[in-house]
Amino acid sequence: MRNASCRFGGYSPMSAALSGTLQSQASLAAYTSWRVGGTARQLYRPADADDLRRFLTTLPVDEPLLWLGLGSNLLVRDGGFPGTVIALQGRLAAIQIHGTELQVGAGVACAKVARAAARAGLTGAAFLAGIPGTIGGALAMNAGAFGGETWDWVQSVHTINREGQIQQRPATDYHTAYRNVQPPAAEGFIRAAFRFQPGDAAQEQSKIRDLLAQRAASQPTGKPSGGSTFRNPPGDFAARLIEACHLKGYRIGGAQVAAKHANFILNTGTATAQDIEQLIQHIQAEVARQQGVQLQPEVHIVGQPA
Ligand SMILES: Cc1cc2nc3c(=O)[nH]c(=O)nc-3n(C[C@H](O)[C@H](O)[C@H](O)COP(=O)(O)OP(=O)(O)OC[C@H]3O[C@@H](n4cnc5c(N)ncnc54)[C@H](O)[C@@H]3O)c2cc1C
Repeated sequence: MRNASCRFGGYSPMSAALSGTLQSQASLAAYTSWRVGGTARQLYRPADADDLRRFLTTLPVDEPLLWLGLGSNLLVRDGGFPGTVIALQGRLAAIQIHGTELQVGAGVACAKVARAAARAGLTGAAFLAGIPGTIGGALAMNAGAFGGETWDWVQSVHTINREGQIQQRPATDYHTAYRNVQPPAAEGFIRAAFRFQPGDAAQEQSKIRDLLAQRAASQPTGKPSGGSTFRNPPGDFAARLIEACHLKGYRIGGAQVAAKHANFILNTGTATAQDIEQLIQHIQAEVARQQGVQLQPEVHIVGQPA
């Protein structure tokens, strides 16, 4: 990894020095919760939003671009990503609180937002506590848990486009539904303004502890996964349908349907992205055949096969 304040191969000269870090042939297994996947041709970790803006202006217009948070909802195929990954985890990481409003950078971990809101005596954000992603990822996915969803609380977002132009958009620019966000344009999220409700700090902290305990009791921990693999179909649960097909424990290579929660696929240590994708397809085929339901993946699958 190197500092990008020097010129890097193949691109036109930069108008101003960059201060983020640029990594060539970056292993995306190291950046995703499944711990599988090939390399990105290059990965950039911006120093701040202005640095990101300047970096984007250096990219060719047809450069494939992938936004990456904590990689907790992402399956990168073994052949890797033939383009540029913008990795925001730990970057754009500021939280500012003004009354009931939180301004949160896209690289902030969801758990941190839940804790900050609770400490400030605000209610509404506790559901974010156990979601192991960034706010950027939560905005892209409309992440939710225990009845709460990210976009329920968003007032506005700051986005950046391929040309490096930053703009503020009201939440009403986005069509959102269960784990689904239709943006008005192809842009990355760099910041969000949330408005929560006045509450009690001690109660919120206790609610967070309860929600984390419920999660620990129902979800497998200790083995790499991508969380819920499939969206729940209307009126049903993906986990119930998979379990009804007796697929708990079913394995392809190093990928296995978790015994504790059938909608989780675990990397038992030796899985490839191909093992996981084949298991996803096998589950879809069996649930369609035995239950007559076509499951839709919640996880995003990107990149090229090996
Ligand atoms: C153990 C476990 C438990 C989980 N529990 C839950 C849960 O309870 N509820 C839930 O909803 N999800 C859950 N997830 C899934 C995941 O944590 C969420 O979808 C989360 O919002 C993803 O955030 P991320 O930063 O990891 O995004 P990534 O996985 O890095 O990216 C996900 C998608 O968002 C896009 N993206 C990321 N950042 C940006 C950005 N700044 N701008 C534009 N697009 C962006 C990516 O390109 C990709 O398409 C769980 C996952 C795991 C592993």
